[in-house]
Amino acid sequence: MSETKAPESPVASNFIHNIIDKDLETQKYGNKVYTRFPPEPNGYLHIGHAKSICLNFTTAEKYNGFCNLRYDDTNPVKEDVEYVDSIEEDVKWLGFMWTKRLFASDYFGTMFDCAVKLIEKGKAYVCQLTPEEMKEYRGTLTEPGKESPYRNRPAAESLKLFNEMKEGLHPEGAMVLRAKIDMASPNINMRDPILYRIAHQSHHNTGDDWCIYPMYDYAHPIEDAIEGITHSICTLEFEDHRPLYDWVLQELEWPNPPQQIEFARLNLTNTVMSKRYLKALVDNGDVEGWDDPRMPTIAGLRRRGYTPEAIRDFCDRIGVSKANSTVDISLLEHCIREDLKEKVQSRNVVENPIKVIITNYPEDQTEEMEIENNKEVPEMGSRMVPFSRELYVDGEDFQEFPEKKYFRLFPGNEVRFKGAYFITCNEAVKNPDGSIKELLCTYDPETRSGGGFEGRKVKGTIHWVDAKTAVEITIRAYNHLMVKNEEGENIMNPDSLNTIKAFAEPAILDAQPGERFQFFRHGYYIADAKLTAGTDKVFNRIVDLKSSYKPNQL
Ligand code: ATP
Ligand code: MG
Repeated sequence: MSETKAPESPVASNFIHNIIDKDLETQKYGNKVYTRFPPEPNGYLHIGHAKSICLNFTTAEKYNGFCNLRYDDTNPVKEDVEYVDSIEEDVKWLGFMWTKRLFASDYFGTMFDCAVKLIEKGKAYVCQLTPEEMKEYRGTLTEPGKESPYRNRPAAESLKLFNEMKEGLHPEGAMVLRAKIDMASPNINMRDPILYRIAHQSHHNTGDDWCIYPMYDYAHPIEDAIEGITHSICTLEFEDHRPLYDWVLQELEWPNPPQQIEFARLNLTNTVMSKRYLKALVDNGDVEGWDDPRMPTIAGLRRRGYTPEAIRDFCDRIGVSKANSTVDISLLEHCIREDLKEKVQSRNVVENPIKVIITNYPEDQTEEMEIENNKEVPEMGSRMVPFSRELYVDGEDFQEFPEKKYFRLFPGNEVRFKGAYFITCNEAVKNPDGSIKELLCTYDPETRSGGGFEGRKVKGTIHWVDAKTAVEITIRAYNHLMVKNEEGENIMNPDSLNTIKAFAEPAILDAQPGERFQFFRHGYYIADAKLTAGTDKVFNRIVDLKSSYKPNQL
């Protein structure tokens, strides 16, 4: 894909650290480095937020500094305690601990006092233009705006009205507090932006204490300054807001004010990264909830089986830059494969099972075959897997009329059954409808794996499950959440979830909710934390084994 971009090196460069290095050299903030992660509690965090979390917390760690978790809860309408709790869980799960946990709404009093100061200085005024008029007065990118007729009202009058706004004497939309900056500024954000608005709304933290609420652009610099933040890292869309950030702190005469630094937000192919869109999927019932394993939320990725290590590795690899780009989701998938490769045990599981009968194997015999738990890591030991006359193999491992270079089971071919014997397929028995009923095979007793047999070679090795002891499990095979339709628009993938029944070796009965495995030759799976109970085993496919990630083609 031409729009996609991936990193050149495993740990990409970080221009923000270069800025901090310079600031330390000039002692701009002495030796202090203080960052913050400031989510608005209006939804669950997603992988884009993980990039910001990793950046803020690891930057603080790198410089022996501090990092706050601050809820940017200045908008009462969309915020909720459920979100506050989920954010904390997610940050901790990623492996970070904040210096302080704070709420921007705790500073409403200070913010009010600061607004009074601006009014007294003649730097803010109460404006009674209607929203429509205000829009008209704002001007456009090519035309300057017009000054509000309320702009030069005496400070005392603005103060009186501002207090009345606070006392709840005016309805929503009747008036706002605006900064007095420059209606002709080429930067529209500087054309007397709104600082406070009336909203007769309860707030999840301050209840009904306030009926006026500060705007983000006014509140954020004050929040940072109160906490002694040195480097206020945010995403690129705030670049044009930086002059306002600086204006607020300068007019408030804040000593040693923090500086805002912008970086490019993370975009990923085949998914969507806006809380608003994700909330709509949840509210419409298109997904099971914020933690649906298809969701790019941290909660969804966790339930899907992603590890914090994989997500942090991903964030390291994509690096931090000033240029917007879209990262291919295959890089994220590569990171989880890399992380699980040497961590999890393997199990034999067959999908779309086909019955195999070994006609020359004794009817009442069962052998225990020793199979290694992870072939990359011998220290992970082995387990015993029962083998007997009737087995299941994977639907993909048999072709009646084999295509070219197909080395697995077909009539007349011999393959190795992994960890067991060489088996020859002699005949495919069919059902009346023409489907395969069972395969009649024979084994060669001389070829027992681990029994010193090093004789002839076969081209195919396949896995199997003993029919008598097979455990039926449910697999939830996930595909990408979003795909492009014929018009090139992003739509929710109608094929994002396939539920499959499969047979597993008996050891799967011990799988605990949240436990991860490699299903041999298929992929990595996790026992779903919500749906796995007792003998009911439901596995989420974390990622398949095939990689479309090609490091050399970056
Ligand atoms: P959304 O648009 O998904 O609602 P947001 O920016 O409104 O996201 P906030 O809760 O305000 O969400 O974000 C908290 C922090 O996370 C901010 O500093 C924001 O810049 C950062 N952030 C949000 N999305 C991304 C992203 N895709 N990549 C990097 N950082 C992000
Ligand atoms: Mg936001």
